[in-house]
Amino acid sequence: MSLGNIDALLKDGAALLADVRESPRSEALLLLVYAIYGFANSDANKAYLLTHPEIEPTAEQCVRYFDFISRRQEHEPIAYIIGEKEFMGLDFLVDKRVLVPRPDTETLAEEAERIVKKEKLTSFLDVCTGSGCIAVTLANAYPGIKAFASDISADALDVARENAKRNKVDVTFFLSNMFEEITGRYDLIVSNPPYIESGSMDSLPLTVRLHEPKLALDGGVDGLDFHRALARGAKSFLNPRGYLMMEIAWDQGEKVSNLLRNEGYQVYIIKDLPGLNRVVCGSLL
Ligand code: GLN
Repeated sequence: MSLGNIDALLKDGAALLADVRESPRSEALLLLVYAIYGFANSDANKAYLLTHPEIEPTAEQCVRYFDFISRRQEHEPIAYIIGEKEFMGLDFLVDKRVLVPRPDTETLAEEAERIVKKEKLTSFLDVCTGSGCIAVTLANAYPGIKAFASDISADALDVARENAKRNKVDVTFFLSNMFEEITGRYDLIVSNPPYIESGSMDSLPLTVRLHEPKLALDGGVDGLDFHRALARGAKSFLNPRGYLMMEIAWDQGEKVSNLLRNEGYQVYIIKDLPGLNRVVCGSLL
């Protein structure tokens, strides 16, 4: 039994998404590929479906497809529905236990990679690791590096562990509220902490507001609670000449730079691809 051919399924799916999504047809196609082929998405599979509109998927595949479509109608991030997200060319498991890795954060990962190479750093700690995307990316880029990562959420750490395994890298994890349970010293501390102002949480896009973990987003009244804790705490866990790098919102550059300068760091800011301030970096002399 079938519930329709590819052509009809795409039309129906796109119609259901038309009011809620900007690219209903391409989202419908992506979800159909996943419903039919499981987690092995590829452009070849998409092209195959588009050139074979007469194929009739099985009833089970169709049911899965319409379940995906209805989750998308409820604004669930596509990455949660398909269960994965690419970051810096690697594949990461993601679900509602963690924030979906953002392209913004590739700016932080790239700068961290650059500094590790330039300064020949041998260890790092990723605080608020979430899905583990930064830690796994760095560990993958520099196989000899001693990689550590922490999060306050045991659920998030389960995802991060899975991602380390999936990408075949060794990362040591700490379950820790910021620096509370951290031991050791590191050449580099990186973090994409929560940094949305509490008062702005209700204005976030629906996919974020309804589905992503608030714990990973809410940075307190001025959004800087965690940058303050990092600026204050990191020195006790950094080696001499160590680096601290934090992702920020576009308008937090000056304040976060000052937090670091007050702690004795030399500071520079990296912009993201759209040209907005995105990463504040501090180095100890
Ligand atoms: N960039 C994310 C967003 O705007 C926020 C990430 C964070 O708080 N660290 O949804």
